[in-house]
Amino acid sequence: MKIISTISDLRRELAAFRSRGERIGLVPTMGALHEGHLTLVRRSLAQTDRTVVSIFVNPKQFGPGEDFARYPRNLKADSELLSASGADIVFAPEVDEMYPAGFSLSVTVAGVSNGMEGARRPGHFTGVATVVTRLFCLVLPDAAFFGEKDGQQLAVIQRLATDLGLPLTIVPVPTVREADGLALSSRNLYLSPGEREKAPHLYRSLLTGAELFAKGCREASEILVAVRASLENEPSFRLDALDLVDLETMEPLTLLDRPAMLAMAAFLGKTRLIDNVRLR
Ligand code: AMP
Repeated sequence: MKIISTISDLRRELAAFRSRGERIGLVPTMGALHEGHLTLVRRSLAQTDRTVVSIFVNPKQFGPGEDFARYPRNLKADSELLSASGADIVFAPEVDEMYPAGFSLSVTVAGVSNGMEGARRPGHFTGVATVVTRLFCLVLPDAAFFGEKDGQQLAVIQRLATDLGLPLTIVPVPTVREADGLALSSRNLYLSPGEREKAPHLYRSLLTGAELFAKGCREASEILVAVRASLENEPSFRLDALDLVDLETMEPLTLLDRPAMLAMAAFLGKTRLIDNVRLR
């Protein structure tokens, strides 16, 4: 496995793969890798010939007061995990390699970015779409792998890829969870042991909604009330957002007559956890 930090080295390696007709998979990450990321890597290894994992804590997708400075960074441990998994290239550029002086591109995917996390974290999805566009152009992957855990991000990227018209498949990967249901996340590292014990309650509350749906309930308001009530059973959580939206457009639904996503964000202490389930 090669660890590369410059675009010129990356291009050289990729050209060698392409000259042999090898298909390239891209797994974009911000590092602090866990089994969720590694599942994306394994999907890429299975579906393509060469796997590039990018590790870049993207300043453009963090708002003022968010955790950019304290976001966990550990390139050495990440590289060891990736090497053991069989990835071919780790692309870990510095900020000024990704965004050289004068960088002025800003990619906004309207509509799907506007609600939910987009409304609560202004500029977040523009930061995500800008870095992902740049990665797509640098790597020109045949397939790129994204987790369903970040549900709105996935919808934004699917729209982005369609609208850019790149010959690229976006592969959604189901959320990887701990045995107790907690979705794996780099931000779980921020939880105290006591908070960690309570954290799976977020997913259990989402499942309350999924169970109602499975029993035939199609009223969004009924499901939202039940999920909120369930979360409130654990007073350590502070609900930040609860949404039931069209899986593709991310627009709020009142009637569940099409594939939907039930998504929640809640604070446990200072840590903001997000999770979602698909209803279809
Ligand atoms: P991040 O490093 O948090 O930007 O995540 C990089 C990629 O890994 C994104 O596509 C995430 O959606 C995905 N990911 C993060 N956590 C999980 C998880 N628990 N299960 C599946 N994919 C995940």
